[in-house]
Amino acid sequence: MSTSRPYDALRGFIASARQMVAFTGAGISAESGIPTYRGDDGLWNKYDPARFANIDNFFSDPEYYWSFFKEVRYPAISQAVPNRAHTALAQLEQKGALKAVITQNIDGLQQAAGSQKVLELHGNTRRIICLQCRQHQTMEAVHQRLATELPPKCPACGGTLKPDVVFFGEALPMDVMKDALAASQTCDLFLVVGSSLVVQPAAGLPLVANRNGARVVIINRDSTPLDRIADLVFHEPASEVLSAVV
Ligand code: NAD
Repeated sequence: MSTSRPYDALRGFIASARQMVAFTGAGISAESGIPTYRGDDGLWNKYDPARFANIDNFFSDPEYYWSFFKEVRYPAISQAVPNRAHTALAQLEQKGALKAVITQNIDGLQQAAGSQKVLELHGNTRRIICLQCRQHQTMEAVHQRLATELPPKCPACGGTLKPDVVFFGEALPMDVMKDALAASQTCDLFLVVGSSLVVQPAAGLPLVANRNGARVVIINRDSTPLDRIADLVFHEPASEVLSAVV
């Protein structure tokens, strides 16, 4: 067990918190093999999220998105399993110490680790929805069709299929954002795990918690614009910090 002073301080924060929430981003899943958008080995460096994650581009050039899904997103997400950081957050919830995980991630790994209360701000790429008849498909079923159909069409009505995620240029689901805002306003410890804290409006939530008197702890490999308001900052892999303190 690590006994350095910041680790001890974090253990103390967790032990004394009555309302702790975690806020996760792509960095928590990096150690599960899912590329982040930013950071040294981020997806930005190989593909262009400004194209594949943009809603206007999705409609004007759906083949670009579905090629990316076929070659990059599906292989990464279908093979990924939760890592020690996801598991540590699930354990904190089971012990009654963590009230919710607010996540920007679309990979479902926090639920796979056993977390019950997960607020998905940006949806979940494992669900594919038909924009016409609203039927859902699994990503596995759609991936199979991509071998012969690009872009894929709804098998029931021939409509446009879209992953159930929030693209750049789309609004966040209001009910989820409302719950995330309430959790941020009422918590006394706000634990950021693996987020560059630049994608708005989600990245404003640590500030909401801070302004309502909560302690803010940031665990992110690189520095973030909100490091200056945090009570503790760890520029270390999420799995190392969380498995050491939980
Ligand atoms: P981001 O890509 O902007 O930033 C990721 C951060 O994680 C970087 O600052 C990096 O320093 C840090 N990081 C990398 N490995 C880490 C590790 N092992 N431990 C701790 N930190 C580590 O991600 P974001 O802030 O979540 O925002 C971008 C958007 O990316 C979100 O909207 C999200 O939906 C989307 N996204 C999600 C996934 C996923 O679901 N796994 C993957 C890529 C992008």
